[in-house]
Amino acid sequence: MLETEKFQIFNPVRIVYGKGELENSRDIFGVSQVLVICDPFVSTSEYFKRAMEKYKSVFIYDKIVPNPPCEMIDEIIESVYEYSKGAPKFDGVIGIGGGSTLDTAKAISSLLVSEGKLSDYIEGKKRFDRRLPLMLVPTTSGTGSEVTNVGVYTLNGIKRPMTSPTFWADVALIDPILTYSMPRRIAATTGLDALTHAVESYWAISTQPYTEGLALRAAKMILESFEASIDGEEWARDEMAVAATIAGVAFSQTRTTAAHAISFPITSFYNVEHGLACALTLPSLIRWTYKFVSKKMDDFASYLGLKDVEELAKKVEQLMEYSGFSRRLRNYGVKENELEEIAKVSMEANIINLTPGKPSYDDVLRILKEIY
Ligand code: NAD
Repeated sequence: MLETEKFQIFNPVRIVYGKGELENSRDIFGVSQVLVICDPFVSTSEYFKRAMEKYKSVFIYDKIVPNPPCEMIDEIIESVYEYSKGAPKFDGVIGIGGGSTLDTAKAISSLLVSEGKLSDYIEGKKRFDRRLPLMLVPTTSGTGSEVTNVGVYTLNGIKRPMTSPTFWADVALIDPILTYSMPRRIAATTGLDALTHAVESYWAISTQPYTEGLALRAAKMILESFEASIDGEEWARDEMAVAATIAGVAFSQTRTTAAHAISFPITSFYNVEHGLACALTLPSLIRWTYKFVSKKMDDFASYLGLKDVEELAKKVEQLMEYSGFSRRLRNYGVKENELEEIAKVSMEANIINLTPGKPSYDDVLRILKEIY
């Protein structure tokens, strides 16, 4: 039986997957004078340099820091104008890196042809209505940012997600070779992010059959390859690259739910990596939401070859342990008397209302105490 009376599907991003495709990126993107926003480790790699030789001109900005602060984005705009001595002469923008870099490239491609600062757009004072052509190339397998219309930025010390129609890229280029250099910890935190996307998209009250299929497939691939991926096996890195993008397409339609909402203060206040911050509450949320989506989650567990939902919650805990991560908030510098503030800030993210059962402040506080 259909749970939704109406739904629509809209994802205009062309997705290109292939090992070694970065070297063909000039032809795939169809743009010759590019501004490249990338992670510092990307700009020094021979593989990247070879790919960039195919372009007519390349200006590289590689000083990206995680959880991109608005001030950094304003600085990039300034350096681009300085480099261009006036109007920038780029035909397009390429973002190559983790989610922080891809989100930065989304903002830059819009800001270069718009007035004002990013904070004006986050606060809703202005809306983007155009951007330069944009290609996003992930080097982590987690955020799915390459296929979403979301950007997450740090404004006044707090992470703030925003959506914009200009944040859909023209091309998402998935070349898993770029993920092979991920150290174990980054492969683990980003893999947990992808798993959280699949689970949250599947149970979100905004879900629909199209995204459920994507979420199921992504979750299965992630459970099958997570451990080998963090151990550095290339076949598993390839699987994770595809799975993270599929999970990204799923949540690009449904958005995410409580695990992401609660992750924002945990990352902003305690500097816990995004995917790990999401995974901390995921097992508790799997157990808490079950009473609202029992049949659905039974199907999810069964598709994954698990006995029941409890086994799914335990599986997430086991993956965290395999990764070497504590499941206790106290081990991330959180003080017990700070849980209320975390719960308060979590409730400010609208996506929390997409969680089955719509957790209240008290529910969130209870979950935080459970994992304290
Ligand atoms: P990240 O981009 O913050 O990068 C973390 C670290 O990993 C950086 O130091 C980076 O240089 C390094 N790194 C990345 N790829 C590497 C590689 N292949 N080899 C070696 N080092 C590598 O991490 P992330 O988890 O990819 O992104 C997290 C950000 O994305 C957060 O700000 C989060 O809120 C955001 N996000 C956005 C969306 C969206 O739809 N826009 C979705 C989920 C998360």
